[in-house]
Amino acid sequence: MKNGRNGLDTLSFVSIVVSIVLFVLASVIETEYYAILPFVIGALILAYAIFRILSTNTARRQYEEERFTSFFKRDPYKRFKCPKCKTLCRVPKGRGKIKIHCPKCGAEFIKRT
Ligand SMILES: [Zn+2]
Repeated sequence: MKNGRNGLDTLSFVSIVVSIVLFVLASVIETEYYAILPFVIGALILAYAIFRILSTNTARRQYEEERFTSFFKRDPYKRFKCPKCKTLCRVPKGRGKIKIHCPKCGAEFIKRT
């Protein structure tokens, strides 16, 4: 990316939003003693986001980004255990009733996806 730096990605963006939420939370807490905690956590998360944006270790940052986004992505597959050999068969979701062909033992079974 630009100047070999990682730049703003989803993880950094979400970190910034979370830190802003924590800062707002800290500002509405009247007792200073309790406001410190969300403020410090927010500052740490913000520092982490800035570190990621300015980081030149883009491979590592992209790995973190992928780990983070894949956690929230819905799994487009449904898994069924083959009734014969217990192998997990992966089929796309939302196809209705389909005949599943086990890739290992060749058994066929019908399931709703
Ligand atoms: Zn099987």
